[in-house]
Amino acid sequence: MLETARNIVQEAGKKLGYSAQVIDTLLQPNRVIEVKVSIPTKTGERVFTGYRSQHNNRRGPYKGGIRFHPQVSREEVLALSTLMSIKCAVAGIPFGGAKGGIIVDPKELSKKELEQLSRSYVRALFPVIGPRVDVPAPDVNTNPLIMQWMLDEYEKLAGQAAPATFTGKPVEKGGSLGRTEATGRGGVIVLKALLSKLGKELKNKNPTFTKVMAGNAKLTVAVQGFGNVGYYFAKIAVEEGFDVVAVSDSKGGIVKNAKLNNAGKHFEPLDIPLVMGCKKKQGTLAGCYCSGGVCDINEGKVITNEQLLELPVDILVPAALENVITEKNAHKIQAKIVVEMANGPIAKEAYPILQKRGIYVIPDVLANAGGVVVSYFEWVQGMKGTVWSEAKVNKKMQDLLEESALAVWEQAKKSHVSLKEAAFMVAVRRLVEPKS
Ligand code: NAD
Repeated sequence: MLETARNIVQEAGKKLGYSAQVIDTLLQPNRVIEVKVSIPTKTGERVFTGYRSQHNNRRGPYKGGIRFHPQVSREEVLALSTLMSIKCAVAGIPFGGAKGGIIVDPKELSKKELEQLSRSYVRALFPVIGPRVDVPAPDVNTNPLIMQWMLDEYEKLAGQAAPATFTGKPVEKGGSLGRTEATGRGGVIVLKALLSKLGKELKNKNPTFTKVMAGNAKLTVAVQGFGNVGYYFAKIAVEEGFDVVAVSDSKGGIVKNAKLNNAGKHFEPLDIPLVMGCKKKQGTLAGCYCSGGVCDINEGKVITNEQLLELPVDILVPAALENVITEKNAHKIQAKIVVEMANGPIAKEAYPILQKRGIYVIPDVLANAGGVVVSYFEWVQGMKGTVWSEAKVNKKMQDLLEESALAVWEQAKKSHVSLKEAAFMVAVRRLVEPKS
């Protein structure tokens, strides 16, 4: 992962005409801190290793999640902190990249031990974090409650209230309204912003887009992953006029029976909130074919996650895991646009195949930046001691992400590169020349 992140930054830097020295400096993290984190047990102290990689703060305080996972490593946090610098820069927010973690399987710990571990990590990192220095957030296996414990420990040590030190807090403890939906909502905003450009390119080349542009059809969407990101993406996409026709979770996906209607669509739209209600009741998505207020078991069929990726839809949204589109299935993808809502859902080898086939990829660093944008708004609210309405948060996110999507589009056109390369070029330029 580190190698991939470095390569793409290097390529973007070269295309922008920066010297090898400038690019090398950008690739070096400012610091990677390794800490000993411990919790008391009946038999003595249990010690874990933790990290915090602070990659770059030329644009503002470091920002990035903390993960609790057995596979956390120095290399992983370093790579992820580099990507956070890129993501914050693409989104145009005044933060640099960081990432932290503890090598631990949190399932082995009791709630009390988890709290002790979280507090111990903050004690170890106290001198190098803070609202104007480094602002952590939740990541894999960490959540708002853990942020609340961490903030409490930080404030005890600092001897003052400092709510802007952590984001992703519970709303009643200073979290921002709109954060839960932010990543999914941001993805739809970016998709719509780029569609206004892409649609014109695809019109005339593609009958569906010709009909959509003429207002005679809706675009069809398949979403892999029905967690926080996938669910809100699907729900908000429907609200914004798309037909979400297939969704999946780890056990498989669902699609309503194939029909060819006047608009040339292949599948019936799903009623996303109803599907979620059904999933909550049943535990999985299988069997939840919902539309028009009813979930009718006879009307649809269960598909595998592999089949979902290959459906004849207009837009494919991998929102679960990394590397799900590989060189093995890239030539079977039928969507015209892939929105990378998960981090790294397209394997490196699959990119050129999709590109050659004329499939547009909206890159993760832009598509899923809504979460970090609203984290920035949480930080601003914490610094100012104010609370913004959800409508205000959503509007501000929309303005920021539309601007970012446009900057990426223009860079892609100017340099004749893919949207992914363009996103990295925009970010690298903003990191090297923070005032640009
Ligand atoms: P989540 O745990 O809430 O949901 C994950 C979903 O993926 C679940 O529905 C799960 O059933 C499904 N899933 C698991 N294995 C699967 C498989 N093999 N095939 C299909 N579906 C599978 O996680 P999330 O917060 O929605 O995050 C999803 C992705 O988005 C991750 O890559 C994450 O790094 C990325 N992301 C999340 C955020 C955020 O704000 N939550 C921000 C940026 C990026």
